[in-house]
Amino acid sequence: MTERVRAACTAAVQTAIEHADDPRILEVTIDLGKLEGMWALLFQRREEQQAKHTRLVADVWRQLIDRDSVVAMVDRFRQRVGLAEAQDPDKSNTATEALAAAKAMLHALADLTGWTTLRAAIREAIAAGRAEGMVNAVAIGAERAGRIGLDWNIAFNDAYQSLERLDELWGNADGWLGRTIDRAAGDLGRALANAAESGASRDEMINAAMDVLTSSDADAVAFVVDWAMTTAADEGALSLYRSEGVLQVDVISAGDGIVCSACLDVEASSPWDILDAPPIPLHPICRCCYAADVSLAHFAAWFA
Ligand SMILES: [Zn+2]
Repeated sequence: MTERVRAACTAAVQTAIEHADDPRILEVTIDLGKLEGMWALLFQRREEQQAKHTRLVADVWRQLIDRDSVVAMVDRFRQRVGLAEAQDPDKSNTATEALAAAKAMLHALADLTGWTTLRAAIREAIAAGRAEGMVNAVAIGAERAGRIGLDWNIAFNDAYQSLERLDELWGNADGWLGRTIDRAAGDLGRALANAAESGASRDEMINAAMDVLTSSDADAVAFVVDWAMTTAADEGALSLYRSEGVLQVDVISAGDGIVCSACLDVEASSPWDILDAPPIPLHPICRCCYAADVSLAHFAAWFA
């Protein structure tokens, strides 16, 4: 255990005790108040971008959810589990049927014209994450070299433009869309099954389903966009370091006292040979970053 790891562990336990009643304690993202200087700015920018793109993607997502389709899904589900008839419903397969109904409805979204817009919105989120990760890599390198004057906005715009024709981002977007659908289907299936268990009426069930799919904190979308953008940022940083000939990278945790033990282990094992560096994020909501000494020669235009 290094000093830094020891301090982070102590702070993590402290935070957990202070917020033991908060059901989201294990999901807290970051405590900006515990970070300083470049690191505070880095995470603040990431959070702002993630909030912005979550909003953009969620707006498009909500437009795709059509009440008539939800009604049809609920009716199909009620029929399958015998809720539509007067007889006693068969409760043995409620959860399975609920998930199947949810999946069928959500997979059909891909046939709607609005799907292309959703795909583009996710691609933009990934591109922004990746560009920010490139800027982060240079900001961290500059901090290590004692070089000041990085203009984060100029750097971001330049990095973003360099990704304009990167076709692999479309493939990434499809992967993350698949995860969004799976997660939303799980949430929706559980909501339907719970409603059936508690004897909800058809209308109550429809409202519960609409709520899961369109509430302002549409959880599946927020969760996946956050994860996708963090992954893109870490990939962007690592590929920048690789293309600049960096041989060794550190993994740095957010160091704000709410870092998990897996991340602390990876951090403590730094530096890593760049070819063996563990892929981060290690898990959703992971806030670790790659950090390395890097030549800033190619990035002179990013500095004032
Ligand atoms: Zn982590």
